[in-house]
Amino acid sequence: MNTPSSILKNTFGYDTFRPLQNEVIENVLARRDTLAVMPTGGGKSLCYQIPSLLLDGLTVVVSPLISLMKDQVEQLRAFGVPSVFLNSSLSPQEYQENMDAVRRGEVKLLYVAPETLLTPRILSLLSTLKVDLLTIDEAHCISEWGHDFRPEYRQIVEVRKKFPDAVCMALTATATSRVRQDIRQTLKFATTNEFIASFNRENLFIEVLPKQDPSRQVTEIINRYKDQSGIIYCFSRRQVDDLAAYLAVKGHSVRPYHAGLDDADRRKNQEAFIRDDVQIIVATIAFGMGINKPNVRFVIHHDLPKSIEGYYQEIGRAGRDGLPAHCVLLYSYGDVAKINYFIDQKEGDERRVAIEHLNAIVRYAEDEHNCRRKPLLNYFGESYSAQTCSNCDNCNSAPTPLTDMTIPAQKFLSCVKRADEKFGAAHIVDILLGSKNEKVLRWGHEKLSTHGIGRELDKKQWMYLARQLLSMGFLKQEGEFHTLSLTDKALESLRKREPIFGVMQEAGGRVQKKGTKEKAAELEYHRGLFAILREKRKEMADAAGVPPYVIFSDRALIEMAAYFPQSQESLLAISGVGQVKARQYGEAFLAVLTDFCQRHELKEKPKAAETTRDKSDANRRYMVVGEAYNGGDTVAALMERYRVTAGAVLDNLTRYVNAGNRLRDGSDLRSLTTASPAQQKAAFDAFDEMGTAYLKPIFDKLNGALNYDDLKILRMLYLIEQEKHS
Ligand code: ADP
Ligand code: ZN
Repeated sequence: MNTPSSILKNTFGYDTFRPLQNEVIENVLARRDTLAVMPTGGGKSLCYQIPSLLLDGLTVVVSPLISLMKDQVEQLRAFGVPSVFLNSSLSPQEYQENMDAVRRGEVKLLYVAPETLLTPRILSLLSTLKVDLLTIDEAHCISEWGHDFRPEYRQIVEVRKKFPDAVCMALTATATSRVRQDIRQTLKFATTNEFIASFNRENLFIEVLPKQDPSRQVTEIINRYKDQSGIIYCFSRRQVDDLAAYLAVKGHSVRPYHAGLDDADRRKNQEAFIRDDVQIIVATIAFGMGINKPNVRFVIHHDLPKSIEGYYQEIGRAGRDGLPAHCVLLYSYGDVAKINYFIDQKEGDERRVAIEHLNAIVRYAEDEHNCRRKPLLNYFGESYSAQTCSNCDNCNSAPTPLTDMTIPAQKFLSCVKRADEKFGAAHIVDILLGSKNEKVLRWGHEKLSTHGIGRELDKKQWMYLARQLLSMGFLKQEGEFHTLSLTDKALESLRKREPIFGVMQEAGGRVQKKGTKEKAAELEYHRGLFAILREKRKEMADAAGVPPYVIFSDRALIEMAAYFPQSQESLLAISGVGQVKARQYGEAFLAVLTDFCQRHELKEKPKAAETTRDKSDANRRYMVVGEAYNGGDTVAALMERYRVTAGAVLDNLTRYVNAGNRLRDGSDLRSLTTASPAQQKAAFDAFDEMGTAYLKPIFDKLNGALNYDDLKILRMLYLIEQEKHS
């Protein structure tokens, strides 16, 4: 017997429903008219796609976005769901073929544009069939109070009357209560069956940065997402063209998109983005309405958006697949003035509303304390009560206490002076730390009075201090070698012995600065394998003439690169791999996986159908273990406490270090290993050469002289050593 959950798993390959999906589906199956309001990426499509497979008759989906219909149908067919679309983009012949397929009852889902639905030809076709579900997508278009009113939507009511037995479902991502009421009344819903999902998109990391040097800032962000897709929004067409040209010159894969380009170019650029032929689109706000690309990893606002509503819609295009995505707004007060200039040309109500919108987004951008999600969600009438979301800049930034750093600052500045203002920061730090490296000796700097006077701080702390002195205007940096020299401000400050306040880092250079970190991606996976899988996907997508995400989602590839499935059965455990996809693409991907795993001697890892809770518990375990170890617990004590092997404790400690934490000294670990000093040295050399990610190559290199537990211990010691030297 098929149920919504069995279809979710077997057809679509997903383990769990997203919030409200199941409730909406059950409600529709109980033949109650349903209005579902969910954010972009909330998973609205499955809400009618799953019922369509459980109902006898046809499901008709009305959608105003012609460009999305083809995409939806391609995705459904890849999952093995028989579906077609009818709209003006089809040739007469294709149109006829699709009509015939519907007439023969071969189709479960029919997508139509509203104006198509209203043609006598379609109405007469539908009158010969059993229509069980009528879905109205983008249902806010039905309301004059909505921002995107389409008169032809109103006539859908007439169509509804022709299919009195069909249950009706309306879907939208934006609807005020007034619009919701309008939708229900217009469509003559029998009861008030409304489902409103939270608009909180947990996977979006939301950040506002002061706009200083936007081209450089944009470059820095996109460099972090190499080979990944992203959108950059600009205020004007000219800015779009300038920025796109700048990025192209810098070697990025980028195209512009705005209303000034002719239709063909716009379509071409959008298509290239969707197909992963181009990674980045620089656009005015016109871009994004008609696209469904799930793997957009970042959205950058190069300029201030005009309203919170627009801003939220635009960042909503990131991370539809539920994987972490990054949203950055570059904010400067100059942009406010620019928008004000345009507002000043408006009058009356329009002007008043525009000013209100602008004020709201400015308040949002200038707020440095409250969670970013609060004002965003409040704006949509949702209260956000969590203390911290842990996924926005304000929640993740530590307060930055300023400390008196007069003494170290004076040491640094006078060392720059003593070295005749001819050297960069790294050399100055070497002198302060008393290094006798070749360069120090060559210049006789071991004889300077400042040599070795800075041992109270480590190298990272000194470098951080140097950057602050630069940004505070005490130092200038010039030339190819970033030579440092003192400014007048520094000379004066030294003479007057003025106190200097700033932010001091802890030893090792961790945390402290008011900076923000994104949540780490949940799953650790093999990047090299992921890249190979992506290539395979692209190759197959191009051959089939569809966007890559139609074949498999990024999430699916990430899971493959984490669990190394090597049989059809294990492949089916991967998120987004249903039975039809496994059959159709499984073989090709398994060949890649098996080959890679053989060459790298990787074994399949079982993917348990874990709940979110399990996942986060497992995710936290290594933190708890690492913290306990640093608190003085021995490995033996931890084995006892968690009833696990030494190997498991070591795995947790390794993860702890890889996550950027430090371990107390390794004396306890050293006592555990049976390796001789010579073996230890050989292992360290091997880590130098081959990295620490995989132990198998190290094991081989040492001809199996050390077992894996020993190698894990040595890897920890190696990482601790590295930490000390970095
Ligand atoms: P919306 O129309 O609400 O913007 P979609 O229906 O396009 O969202 O879904 C966004 C993405 O999330 C799609 O790639 C879809 O396959 C995926 N998705 C939907 N429901 C689930 C689920 N329960 N588990 C995993 N992925 C899902
Ligand atoms: Zn927050």
